[in-house]
Amino acid sequence: APLPGRAPGRSRIGVMGGTFDPVHNGHLVAASEVAARFDLDEVVFVPTGEPWQKSARAVSPAEHRYLMTVIATASNPRFTVSRVDVDRPGPTYTVDTLSDLRTQRPDAELYFITGADALAQMLTWKDAERLAELANLVGVTRPGHDLAVPASGSLPAGSVHLLEVPALAISSTDCRERVRQDLPVWYLVPDGVVQHIAKHGLYRD
Ligand code: ATP
Ligand code: MG
Repeated sequence: APLPGRAPGRSRIGVMGGTFDPVHNGHLVAASEVAARFDLDEVVFVPTGEPWQKSARAVSPAEHRYLMTVIATASNPRFTVSRVDVDRPGPTYTVDTLSDLRTQRPDAELYFITGADALAQMLTWKDAERLAELANLVGVTRPGHDLAVPASGSLPAGSVHLLEVPALAISSTDCRERVRQDLPVWYLVPDGVVQHIAKHGLYRD
């Protein structure tokens, strides 16, 4: 879909939601690529609050996931972290995330960034149309997941963008498993995140 022209005076903000347990270099590369492609002024990382889709496993406390995300993004002047989902009681729904950010930044155009896997799920949600009203939806390639937009006939044309980013076969699941097995996660996650995990003994059961 063609890129809409930049509206004068409106900043463009990427929104990268995730569990970030832990945040890894795949997340950072995806955010950086989308920022470059869509000329974003800022990318806000939004760690989820209480999980609902991942209830099969105990997710690390939100404060740890929040801190690791702050550590990982600290060196990039265009990356910020929002507490909206961490501080909102109850499970996180993306419509709430986007509505809250909308309220905080009424003049910004929002670009919601997801991996191809998460985008496919998202478009099946009952709220998909509302999501597309609140933000442009950007799906990025992820190794092992097709970059195809599933039937989304009800969405306005041009509301979903697909982008190939350099493939990083990294997942948080794999990072947690590596820590549990005493394998290194250096260079899969930022150095400060390696140190935060070790300092607090995360993912060691
Ligand atoms: P888990 O293995 O626990 O599900 P994850 O690596 O998928 O973790 P999430 O926090 O679930 O990380 O993902 C946040 C967002 O980042 C999602 O939209 C996901 O699709 C995307 N994402 C995760 N890893 C990558 C990657 N390597 N490349 C591109 N996008 C990614
Ligand atoms: Mg995931």
